[in-house]
Amino acid sequence: MAWECPHLDQSDDNCRRLKQPCVPGRKGCTLPKNLKFAVPPEVRVAEVNTPAIKSDTDDSSH
Ligand code: SF4
Repeated sequence: MAWECPHLDQSDDNCRRLKQPCVPGRKGCTLPKNLKFAVPPEVRVAEVNTPAIKSDTDDSSH
């Protein structure tokens, strides 16, 4: 990681301040508001809140 946040609990990647998974740039995050992200924080928040979609190659249904 190229930066460190004092609110990050590195044992589980949760934000101690927000008591939620760390998603840099999310609402309530203390990082500067003028930062630009390749993937918008809203999209990454949605990803961490959504269970993984099963792959077409998942063969567990047989
Ligand atoms: S969400 Fe923001 S404030 Fe919280 S740990 Fe991550 S970078 Fe730090």
